[in-house]
Amino acid sequence: MFGSETRPIPQGERIRTMAQTIAVSKAIHRAVEIDDGLSEISTQELYRKIISRLGEDPGRQGLLATPARVEKSMAYLTRGYDEDPTKILRGALFDEDYDEMVIVKDIEMFSLCEHHMLPFFGKVHVAYIPKGKVIGLSKIPRLVEVFSRRLQVQERLTRQIADAIQDAIAPQGVGVVIEARHLCMMMRGIEKQNSSTVTSAMVGCFRQKETRLEFLSLVRQPGSGGA
Ligand SMILES: [Zn+2]
Repeated sequence: MFGSETRPIPQGERIRTMAQTIAVSKAIHRAVEIDDGLSEISTQELYRKIISRLGEDPGRQGLLATPARVEKSMAYLTRGYDEDPTKILRGALFDEDYDEMVIVKDIEMFSLCEHHMLPFFGKVHVAYIPKGKVIGLSKIPRLVEVFSRRLQVQERLTRQIADAIQDAIAPQGVGVVIEARHLCMMMRGIEKQNSSTVTSAMVGCFRQKETRLEFLSLVRQPGSGGA
């Protein structure tokens, strides 16, 4: 009757949040399951239909195997839905007293914009300042891969990478910067062809000016990997 009433609520909330997370990550697969009578039609048949709606002949020699190829390549380009970022990071966390900035820059990124399903691609720069735990360095590009191989917007991708690191090791802070070019803008002539979009997510001490500036200056230094 006292504090006992407040306790069960966060637990229930947590379960609901987990269920929502799972629902979101499975959204694509679910949409296929509860559709409107198209579930009997194979993905390849749907692509064949799209090709003919575009005014092409899906029976033309060069297009015969296209539905199969597109199905395969789309599965590859969205395979991040089947991967669990928490699981990837959990296997590579180490106790370490290091408390300087850890920075992994120029991580190649290829994703699909969720508005046009056209590629956007570029470089991701990730930094954090540990607080007792570090992440195996190879896992950071893996993390970028898991979130980018989904239908995305650049802003959310940036935020998800930062949040995943924050949740995994609760560091002093995390910074993520993505510079990307969007084919939906470039091919459709909306923006100048060589313009790029820059997004950033700053968590914890990266919100402080000095830390953020140190990170950004390290990102801009060409080839600062060595001594
Ligand atoms: Zn787009």
